Order: sequence, then structure tokens, then C-alpha cells
Amino acid sequence: MSHVPYLELQPGLAELAPELTEACESVLGAGHLVLGPQVEAFEEEFARACGSAQCVGVGNGYDALVLGLRALGVSSGDDVLVPAQAHITDWLAVSAVGAHPIGVDVDEVTGNLDPELVDQAWTERTRAMVVVHLYGHPAPMDRLAAWARRRGVAVLADASHAHGARWAGRPIGAWGDAVAWSFYPTKNLGALGDGGAVTTDEPSVAQRVRVLRNYGSTSRDVVLERGANSRLDELQAAFLRVKLRHLDEWNARRSLGARRYVEGLSGLALTLPRVTDGATHAWHLFVIRTAERADLQAHLAAEGIETLAHYPTPPFAQGAYAALCIDPRRFPHATAWAAECLSLPLGPHLSMDQQDRVIDALARCVTGSGGH
Ligand SMILES: *Cc1c(COP(=O)(O)O)cnc(C)c1O
Repeated sequence: MSHVPYLELQPGLAELAPELTEACESVLGAGHLVLGPQVEAFEEEFARACGSAQCVGVGNGYDALVLGLRALGVSSGDDVLVPAQAHITDWLAVSAVGAHPIGVDVDEVTGNLDPELVDQAWTERTRAMVVVHLYGHPAPMDRLAAWARRRGVAVLADASHAHGARWAGRPIGAWGDAVAWSFYPTKNLGALGDGGAVTTDEPSVAQRVRVLRNYGSTSRDVVLERGANSRLDELQAAFLRVKLRHLDEWNARRSLGARRYVEGLSGLALTLPRVTDGATHAWHLFVIRTAERADLQAHLAAEGIETLAHYPTPPFAQGAYAALCIDPRRFPHATAWAAECLSLPLGPHLSMDQQDRVIDALARCVTGSGGH
């Protein structure tokens, strides 16, 4: 009985090995290693793919969030609305700029920020809102952006799960005042190491990120403000240009895998992911919900099937935020998502055979028929 790993990167690297090798050779030949022509070309190509005017490459997704918040004018003492269930970095980035993360409960169906709840979380000091397109399912950006505009709140989207997603037919990179991206190797668009970017239509926001990523300097020996070192290197940019050419096709394979799961698992007592009107899902993760997660995970592990939970502890319940003393009852949906979410193996190189093993194992151990 062969093992079904949660995610394997090696088959994707093997598929693209000739192109990645060629990209590497072109960097070796050019001799530029950090912030050079490959980064510039990637920024242009990724901006175009995102439907946004500007793209600035940075060191990783966390820095994209931190520098994005700073470029939108968020600073010490501000409040920033963040989903109560998200990646820990969405909260850490808010804290890193000296602002206070204000949790907002998430939607029961998608796990995304609930537009019905943002207004009651709003405070006089609310300067910005971080919207996370959780699992690759876009958040309802038209409603969130309309509310934010009314309240004068800046919108930073975290699209690190959502390369290739669309909302209301527009690329997800075209929604929000700025969009932060991670190119960590496991993402839909992954580098061969760390990488990130901020996209935006606003030239002044892009320019501020450009300055902040390089110590705060506008030119050699001129430092305007206290910046960071968060530069994208030429090798990663060259690899990302290769990966970007394959993003749509690899996302189509993810989407096919998701469809096969939905067909194969319907009728079981599990809550399957649902795609809401207006959403084109990027299927970064295929997340089911079950009240018996621990048992199910153990059963699957015994059959050699690896699963993960994204994320078993909401940011507000982590030790990092223990000082805030947040009562989990304030965020019932986030708490339920954290307790019940289970991510099944999914990726552009998961074979149908491997996927059938996951479906068969679930059919054997999940009884009854459940709702979706
Ligand atoms: C991966 C990820 C991040 C962090 O990105 P890094 O590049 O690891 O810093 C942030 N937000 C989300 C939603 C992510 O999935």
C-alpha cells in the first residue's frame, strides 16, 4: 500500500526542470543577483497577470503584509481589522507595524471575513482591514471594498492562497488598495525558496514599498525613512517567471482534483467546500469539515494518507496573543473552523490513483450521509 503524501514538490520541479535550469543559467550568465532585470521582468509579468498596474517584489509573504500595511499608512496605535481565523502572519504583520489587530469573525461557509460583521468591529482608530482569501476562495471583495470606502478604511488583501483566483470575473490582484502575495514553495505560485510581492494600482503605494524594501533608501546613500531589507533575488524571480507561465494550467489541475473530491465524497457525513456566487476558487487547499477530525486524521494516517489542518489554532488563541485575553466565544465561526477543518492532499501533481485512495479511505470510515 503506497503512501499518499500531503504534498510533494518534487514532481513539479521535475516537470519544469529544463525550464528552471535554463532560467538559472541565464542568471549565471548575466551576473545580476539581487533586484536586477529578472525581478523587473517578473514584476511586470505578475502585475499583468494580476490585472494591477504595479508589482513590487519582496523577500516573503510576511514582509509583503508588513510593507503593504506601512505603505498604506498604517502605523503605531492604529487599529486594523483582521479575520479571526487566518494565517498567524496576518496578525503578526499588524503587530509588527505597531498597530492593534482587531479580530472579526469569519463566514460559516467559506471561512472568509464576514462583511456583515466588519462594521460592528470598526473603531475610530481603524485605519485598515486585512482581507485573506482563505484556502484560495476569494472573499466578497465588492461588499468589503464598498464598506471600507464608506468608512475610509484601507484594504490590504492577503492573496497568498489565491494566485489565479477571481472575484466577479476580475483577477483577485485587482481587488483592494494593495495585495500581498507569498511565493513560498508550497503556494500555487511558488518559488524555489522564499519570495513575495505587493501589487497595487496606486503608484505612490508601490513606490513606498520599493523604498521600504531596500532600507528606506531612494538612491545610494539617501535614506528617507527607516525601512527593511526585503529584496527579491534574481534567481527566485527567474524561477517565478517560469512558474507563472504554468500557473493557469496547474490551477486547472487543482480545480479538476477538487471536482473529483466533491463528486467522490458527496453523500458522506462531511462538510465539503462550497464555492459561492462570484468566486473563481484557486483551490490552494481542499478543506473539509468534520466534528471527528482527530479520529478521521488518525484513521487516514493508519492507511498511509497524510492530512493537515489549516489552522487548528486561530491566531487570537496562540500564545503570541495570550496577553489580549480574547474569549473564543466572541468568534464562534472561527473557533468551529479551527476545531473541524481538515485539508486533504491536493496539488497539480496528485495522481487520480492517489486521490481515489483518499476517497476510498474516507468512504470506508465516514458513515451516514451528511450535509454540504
Ligand atoms: C504562506 C502564507 C503567508 C506567509 O508567507 P511567507 O512567505 O511564508 O512569509 C501569509 N498569509 C498566508 C495566507 C499564507 O498562506
